[in-house]
Amino acid sequence: MSTNIIAIVGRPNVGKSTLFNRLVGRRQAIMDNESGVTRDRSYGHGEWCGKFFTVIDTGGYVHGSDDIFEGEINKQVELAIKEADVILFMVDVDAGLTGLDEEFANVLRRSDKPIYLVANKADTNARAHQVGEFYALGIAEEIYPISSQSGSGTGDLLDEVVKHFKDEGIEDPTAGIPKIAVLGRPNVGKSSFVNLLLGVERNIVTDIAGTTRDAIHSHYNAFGKEFIIVDTAGLRRKSKVSEDIEFYSVMRSVRALEDADVCIVMLDATRGIEAQDVNIIALAEKNRKGIVILVNKWDLVEKDTNSTKEFEEEILSKIAPIKYVPVIFTSVLTKQRIHKAIEVAMEVYDNKTRKIPTSKLNDALLPDIERYPPPAIKGKFIKIKYVTQLPTHNPTFAFFCNLPQYLKESYTRYLENRIREHFGFKGVPIKVLFKKK
Ligand code: GDP
Ligand code: GDP
Repeated sequence: MSTNIIAIVGRPNVGKSTLFNRLVGRRQAIMDNESGVTRDRSYGHGEWCGKFFTVIDTGGYVHGSDDIFEGEINKQVELAIKEADVILFMVDVDAGLTGLDEEFANVLRRSDKPIYLVANKADTNARAHQVGEFYALGIAEEIYPISSQSGSGTGDLLDEVVKHFKDEGIEDPTAGIPKIAVLGRPNVGKSSFVNLLLGVERNIVTDIAGTTRDAIHSHYNAFGKEFIIVDTAGLRRKSKVSEDIEFYSVMRSVRALEDADVCIVMLDATRGIEAQDVNIIALAEKNRKGIVILVNKWDLVEKDTNSTKEFEEEILSKIAPIKYVPVIFTSVLTKQRIHKAIEVAMEVYDNKTRKIPTSKLNDALLPDIERYPPPAIKGKFIKIKYVTQLPTHNPTFAFFCNLPQYLKESYTRYLENRIREHFGFKGVPIKVLFKKK
């Protein structure tokens, strides 16, 4: 089965990311024209007529300023030519033919991949009839007028595009591969970390889209582990205004977090844990993601024998009541414990997907419950009969009992602690439920 890949190329502002979002059926990209932030993500999956495909919005990989350099065009087109099975070359009917369109066409002519010339912003019939001037590009015999905004014309285009796909493709080529987000405040060392991973073993998996260095989902094969780093360099600023950096970096973290299985939250050892880090960790827990804390720049800290222990205690006290998160002291600069960091992130992923057999759970937990039963409420005794792990994506344990409504938060915490004591689940939020039996 192949990963059928469509790449969208074209100059800035023709509507590439609008079409991308339509094809992958995701919520709208962040369209903030004021700040120039229009890029959401550049790599997604879609389906048409029973065929699954991957879409790359190559515009997300290059700086989208209007003074686009020839090098940027080459980069964008090379990526498309290398990765794609079909290329959509997008122009803008509204703006008409521009010199930049011609430059793209010149580079695209080197490709032997099928190219569709897509005239976007053909919002009305009248507009759709104005596409004639684009024949001058000499790149295609047919022009597909579409409106990415309303979707008109996209169906006819896709009907033709999917004919190039030999089989039904793969719904999500990244399914089952751990997705890791690297989060943290600016300057803690996130990009150095990701770049180091690329450096340790230049063995990047190349069989799926988004495997290049600039990809939103970079597929890694480092230290013998296969994983995907979510959203490392994808969101780029279109304008040079700096006021919205904060908004921008927060949005980027939130999206990456939602997409990930495990969040690596990176701190700067010389600054400790700050409010924004605590917020990110709380958000990760709320979204039930695996969490690993890296205390980076550990090379800059004066150490004595208790340093790591004290540091870890300080962090855990700030993120209380969360206390299941592994804390690793790294230095990207001296390459200290980078291997360890990835290993632990993989363990956390395994924990997230782990299922404990019902008999094991009961053998371990029923004696704990007998030793310390839930306190009676209003003279009523609460009897927990058995426990089972639900077949959910995240570890969830249902305790069956006579009076589930009477169980208190403190007892929930007791049970969670007992589960962790027996079975670990390091780095993973777990949920305890009470059900009537
Ligand atoms: P990109 O830079 O090529 O990715 O372009 P964007 O997708 O960011 O779109 C640039 C602008 O064109 C945005 O303001 C979009 O709302 C607008 N746009 C995109 N598609 C259409 C369309 O089909 N019709 C009209 N009228 N505007 C569109
Ligand atoms: P990002 O903004 O989180 O992506 O941070 P960068 O990766 O750009 O790193 C910010 C600065 O910290 C750069 O100057 C890096 O060289 C430096 N840096 C990153 N990791 C370490 C480390 O482990 N130790 C030291 N001393 N410096 C580091």
